[in-house]
Amino acid sequence: MTRSILLGPPGSGKGTQAQRLANLYQIPHISTGDLLREAVANETELGKKAKEYMDSGNLVPDETILGMVRDRLDQPDAKAGWILDGFPRSVSQAEFLDKLLQEISQELDIAINLDVPDDIVVSRMLGRGRADDNEETIRRRLEVYREQTAPTIDYYSDRDKLVSVDGDRDVDEVTAALQAAIAS
Ligand code: AMP
Repeated sequence: MTRSILLGPPGSGKGTQAQRLANLYQIPHISTGDLLREAVANETELGKKAKEYMDSGNLVPDETILGMVRDRLDQPDAKAGWILDGFPRSVSQAEFLDKLLQEISQELDIAINLDVPDDIVVSRMLGRGRADDNEETIRRRLEVYREQTAPTIDYYSDRDKLVSVDGDRDVDEVTAALQAAIAS
């Protein structure tokens, strides 16, 4: 079992890899992006609040995200471990997660930074055809990543919880490297 975070820019392959790891370890893949898209599709109150932020490539405010993450980690299947994907997306979310894990007596094993060069992430995002994958939104999401999300790499490094994995390789090789990082 493991409790791990996958960090990395949009288009780094986080989602694919997180799902593979979740299958291997038989634990939930918790993607805040997926949870939000589901809420938007179901037209819930939360989805209505989140939609405009997602469409413009900005972060959905913490007041909407944090309760959603707390509820998800509270589900029985998350007792056995989890892979977090797309959360935390800022230092304030990382601090929230630390407090939450303390409250529920769980410990984070590792945060893995999936390292992929900028030109590769842009071409991957343009290729996947998601609703928020137009060029302008992609540019904004990368900006938001650099300004707000990249500082979480130092946050986990300062706490000796960070490992970097080269994500610019064959999918199977990346999965193997992630498994090795989790086992270390
Ligand atoms: P993703 O599927 O992780 O690329 O997320 C898609 C969009 O959902 C992002 O561009 C944000 O608008 C929103 N989102 C996902 N996760 C978070 C988060 N942890 N905090 C704020 N917004 C988020």
